[in-house]
Amino acid sequence: MREVACVGVVRTMLVADIVALGGPGAPAVIVTAGVHGDEQAAPWALLSLARDGLLDRGFAYRLWPCTNPSGYVLGTRESADGIDLNRSFGRGGSSPEARAMIAANSDRRFVLNLDLHEDFEADGFYCYEPKVDDVPFGRAIVQAIDDAGLPVQDLQHGYELGYPPTARHYTLERGRVIPDAEIEATFERKLPHSISLLRSGAARRSLTFESPRCRPWKDRIAIHRIAVVTSLERSRAQVQTEIGSFT
Ligand SMILES: [Zn+2]
Repeated sequence: MREVACVGVVRTMLVADIVALGGPGAPAVIVTAGVHGDEQAAPWALLSLARDGLLDRGFAYRLWPCTNPSGYVLGTRESADGIDLNRSFGRGGSSPEARAMIAANSDRRFVLNLDLHEDFEADGFYCYEPKVDDVPFGRAIVQAIDDAGLPVQDLQHGYELGYPPTARHYTLERGRVIPDAEIEATFERKLPHSISLLRSGAARRSLTFESPRCRPWKDRIAIHRIAVVTSLERSRAQVQTEIGSFT
């Protein structure tokens, strides 16, 4: 675990690296949380996943448990500089936090990126799943949330998803937003972290989870725990299919 300095501001971010049981050649997963400071269950869910040993040790991990520390303290979506950090990952980064993360991650490749958020308007869980192949993870995640008796969000066009009003590059299902990753990557200057990783090829697949902020704290934590664990199960199955053996 180490602190990464944000150049130009008095601010650091924690990053934790976990080595896989199988050694340095194992596939790696990156998980980030807290890029919006008012989505406070997300960092705590990630910490609880690590604490409780729920991260499949066949993978290596890079964990960024709170990528907007100043916004977290203030309880604001934006950083203390007034920047929505999740729109600042284009062109090498337009915030101190984005530049620090891009530099720290520059030599890494990940089979999976998970980004943990909350939505103050939602009544249930949903995820963004940019389409990269024909192996959807989102259906299994929604099923697992359903099986746990936790709420899943119905989504229709018109629901606020953070896209420009004219955007038509995505389809909706119950609990799932499925954007065309290539078209989304053309929203160049306001790039989210997840799309920047897909665009650069640093991550092969990326999922963004949204828990409903109006729900009880324990449900919001549980939703993220289930979504992360189910994603890791799906990723393990995919790696096993492709390379045969996996620790
Ligand atoms: Zn968010």
